[in-house]
Amino acid sequence: MTPEKFLDLLDSEQQEAVINSTGKVLVIAGPGSGKTRVITYKIAYLIRSGIKPHEIMLVTFTKAAAREMIQRAKNVSHSTLDGITAGTFHHICNIFLRKYGKTININPNFTILDSEDAKDIMESARSEIVPKSERKHIPSAKQLLTINSYMNNTLCSLRESIAKLNPKFLEAEHIIEQILIKYSAEKNEQNALDYDDLLINTLHILSTDSYIRKRESTKLKWILVDEFQDTNIVQYKIAELLSETHGNLMVVGDDAQSIYSFRGARFENVVEFQKNARIFKIQTNYRSSQELVNFINEMLPAKSVPKKLKAIRKTGIKPFLVEVFDHYDEADFVANEILNFHTEGINLNEIAVLYRAHSHSLELQLALSKLGIPFRIFSGLRFTETAHVKDVLAFLKTTVNPKEKVSWLRVLKLLNGIGKIKANRISNKIIGSETPYQTLTQIKEKSDDFSKLKKIYQDSLKLENPGDRIKKFYEIFYNEHLEYTYDNYRERKEDLERLIEMASFYRSTEEFLTDVLVSESFEITNSNLEQLEYDEKVTLTTVHQAKGLEWKVVFIISVNPGDFPHIMSLRDGNIDEEERLFYVAITRAKDYLYIIYSAGGSSRILYGNDYILRCGKSFIDKIPFHLVEHIEYKVRR
Ligand code: ATP
Ligand code: MG
Repeated sequence: MTPEKFLDLLDSEQQEAVINSTGKVLVIAGPGSGKTRVITYKIAYLIRSGIKPHEIMLVTFTKAAAREMIQRAKNVSHSTLDGITAGTFHHICNIFLRKYGKTININPNFTILDSEDAKDIMESARSEIVPKSERKHIPSAKQLLTINSYMNNTLCSLRESIAKLNPKFLEAEHIIEQILIKYSAEKNEQNALDYDDLLINTLHILSTDSYIRKRESTKLKWILVDEFQDTNIVQYKIAELLSETHGNLMVVGDDAQSIYSFRGARFENVVEFQKNARIFKIQTNYRSSQELVNFINEMLPAKSVPKKLKAIRKTGIKPFLVEVFDHYDEADFVANEILNFHTEGINLNEIAVLYRAHSHSLELQLALSKLGIPFRIFSGLRFTETAHVKDVLAFLKTTVNPKEKVSWLRVLKLLNGIGKIKANRISNKIIGSETPYQTLTQIKEKSDDFSKLKKIYQDSLKLENPGDRIKKFYEIFYNEHLEYTYDNYRERKEDLERLIEMASFYRSTEEFLTDVLVSESFEITNSNLEQLEYDEKVTLTTVHQAKGLEWKVVFIISVNPGDFPHIMSLRDGNIDEEERLFYVAITRAKDYLYIIYSAGGSSRILYGNDYILRCGKSFIDKIPFHLVEHIEYKVRR
């Protein structure tokens, strides 16, 4: 292919957007219409027109997306693209501050705090400012970080941010302010920046230092931003300031796919940008089959700019609307379908399962493991890798194998008043004994928790069923431990309630552990599927993380009121964003789309939420039945 030939790989609308766009440009178009492709080809086009790589900046939503787009642009432009700036806003600001941070007294060797580090610092700031007796009335470290972050990303005042997120803490505004000041001082002291600091400080320098602004914006002749609907006001301003000299700022996005408002993203940016930008619209959808596009067109979220996509691919099959009995059936159904696709020769990398929250995938993870189907989870842990599930499994292991020291240590270290050394001494005593559980009851420790532990073993060893065993551990000790230890204890409790339920279907603890541990060691053991390619895996991901991506086969699971739309959004009346999220989900599929729901609604919802369950809006009610294939899968009824 001669270099300029690559333009033939675009349709006329896309070509327009690539060739005839200078100045402020907005490409607004529906899912799968080639927005990302336009930006990618625009880079190639600019290079072929003589622009140098270091004069271009590409902003994407993830690092991986930037890598992929650059690779593609390299291939079509026949250029190395060395020197191009590409990555997320955070990445770009990081580079900027290494260079210019010193002008506002940021040492160029600063370290970046991940969210765990930030939480530690916030925690200590909080305990320093607030006496123990009063901490109940102050937001937790995690909540403080959320407030701080909201304030930074929206440029709202502290008061507005508290009012928006946790109005009940408005009275504590003054103390919160002091904690945040302390938090900042501590970060300064450590020469460390959190994620928001990267953005805020970059904006600060660009808006106050006209020399630096001039210098950078003169160097950068073109700025291109993908997924513009999910940028926040700070990022938007940074992009504007960096394009000040040349004025070439091209952004692409889809208002109907704006799904990050909880992080301060505002699709109002699109509206504002529109006012003095040249607008390009693309109408053709290249991703999905005709039948899927028919369905997608009917599912446009409320309050979006009206759009009707035209499918380029003429044939296909209707999306499947699958009614299952409950989420165990759901897991079985999906795992078996995946197996069928594999048998038919479809690569597992072409298959994804999407859900609203990671905890919705627990049953599926187990079902996939049982069938030997390898899977990867996007930015989430396998549930057997999460701390709380590991704790419970460690306890269970000690009930079947009292010689396993690692598990004893893990359990003992959970107890108040038992540190590493004591835990080691106690576990040695237990595993060295002929009658380990009896030895445990004879050990004398002052700790209340230790007495509880004795009771747990006394009670639970009499029980055969693994679910009942976990329940004892959970009710006598672990429940309270969770509340005391984690801010997000509610989600963790929910996980454990699922685990208890799952375990209760097994006759013996050994059997249950074997199944769960198979899933744990899955990476090492070989799959029993035939002819798997290297690294061939099904993708499990939240819808949020699936943005911009596509697969041949997509399953959306647990489309039940309370699960998806999520209970929090139902409670807060934030249903619009859930609708956009569902829209993002259905538009990821190229050929096969499965939307799965339980006949009786969600069985995951905790007690006390009956009302929401009954009144909650279901996406299923919105689905035009003539555009889908309805199937039932109810084995367990
Ligand atoms: P999203 O809104 O989900 O981010 P998008 O608008 O960015 O979607 P792309 O990911 O760029 O869409 O394109 C969707 C699919 O269609 C990709 O596989 C892309 O390669 C293909 N595609 C886009 N335009 C064309 C074209 N002109 N010819 C052939 N294939 C195309
Ligand atoms: Mg895209």
